[in-house]
Amino acid sequence: MKQNDNDYLFILAKHEDIKEGKTTDIYFYRTLKILEEEKLADTVVHAEITISSLPRGYPWGVFGGLRDVAKLFEGVPVDIDAFPEGSVIYKSDFYGIREPVMTIRGPYGKFVIYETPLLGFLCVGSGIASKAARIRKAAGNDVLIVSFGARRTHPAISPFNAFYAYIGGCDAVSCVLGAEKFLGMKPVGTMPHSLMIIYSVLKGDHAEAWKAFDRIMPSEVPRIILCDTYLDEVAEAIRAVEKVGSDRIWGFRLDTPSSRRGKFEDIVREVIWELKARGYDGKIFVSGGIDENTIPELVKAGVSGFGVGSSIANARIVDFAMDIVAIRHEGRWVPCAKRGKFSGVKKVYRCPSCLVDVIRLESEPAPMCPKCGGKMENMLKPLIRNGKIVAEFSKPNETRRYVLEQLEKLELDKKPWD
Ligand SMILES: [Zn+2]
Repeated sequence: MKQNDNDYLFILAKHEDIKEGKTTDIYFYRTLKILEEEKLADTVVHAEITISSLPRGYPWGVFGGLRDVAKLFEGVPVDIDAFPEGSVIYKSDFYGIREPVMTIRGPYGKFVIYETPLLGFLCVGSGIASKAARIRKAAGNDVLIVSFGARRTHPAISPFNAFYAYIGGCDAVSCVLGAEKFLGMKPVGTMPHSLMIIYSVLKGDHAEAWKAFDRIMPSEVPRIILCDTYLDEVAEAIRAVEKVGSDRIWGFRLDTPSSRRGKFEDIVREVIWELKARGYDGKIFVSGGIDENTIPELVKAGVSGFGVGSSIANARIVDFAMDIVAIRHEGRWVPCAKRGKFSGVKKVYRCPSCLVDVIRLESEPAPMCPKCGGKMENMLKPLIRNGKIVAEFSKPNETRRYVLEQLEKLELDKKPWD
């Protein structure tokens, strides 16, 4: 495959390339060749996917990327069990045992080439969902969070990115294809500086851009006025109210450049105060360099909404690994694992009240929650049976709600059993 092949416009895998395993690492093809020639490709193995590390030492993450894994394995004659998408995930359980979030069972030769794309979907999907969930947790439930990340990632994966930003806890996304095609919702956005600049030169005043936006956009589009292009934020916000009308405006977006920012939360306080002093009201929406550590102070200052780009779009991945932990040999499962991993077929139990996890060998009885003594539930649910997708995926808003319900029981920087 040459880069300038006519059937490849961008440096990018096609859907069918991924489905056929062409993006995989070469050593898997070599392994397959050896196993086939030695008549070992039908060896039935039990493999599991565990977390090697969570980004920045996070105590927990959110499981994403599973929908595409199901599509990848549709037609591959294996059985897969997995945590439901949106579940909180940990590196290890209450007792420090590494936690499988997914298991694959079947002839190794049938799925060896899929390890690479499988991990890719999970690593990126879970990385984005985990970061979005942390941002939601840091912001609380009462503020609007919109993912502005489409421009901060490869355009081919911007819908995937938007999807898992929403699942993780964002309220909306700006990416048109991500919102409309995959989330079934309307994309959300404000107005760019380019519009202000064109109106300031050609119409003599960037306030004309605000008026044009209000004149031309359908009524359901919230009027969020960009208030930092040329003048002080307070001056621009008051001017916007005078030009567009307080009753028309939903809020004011501040995207103040870092060279002018000083203390951003104090700029927010001042804008809110000066509007209030004049009898106006309006929400403050901020964007630019927003991350979980900057959000709490801004919320305290009165910010009602955030546009979050880079910190979610370029979220660090969750580092998943796949390992064989048992091989079917002479009619029984032989436990086997490389150093550092735990062999054997396992079950993952979770307390639905405390979100505490305990791993047990399949042969062991189900435990009770070591924190509250309550009953624990099996987390590894059937996803694929002999190549057929048997799990039903919730609608994106339902998976998101599941994430938010778990977030209520979690703290940002602690596991439930710390
Ligand atoms: Zn419990």
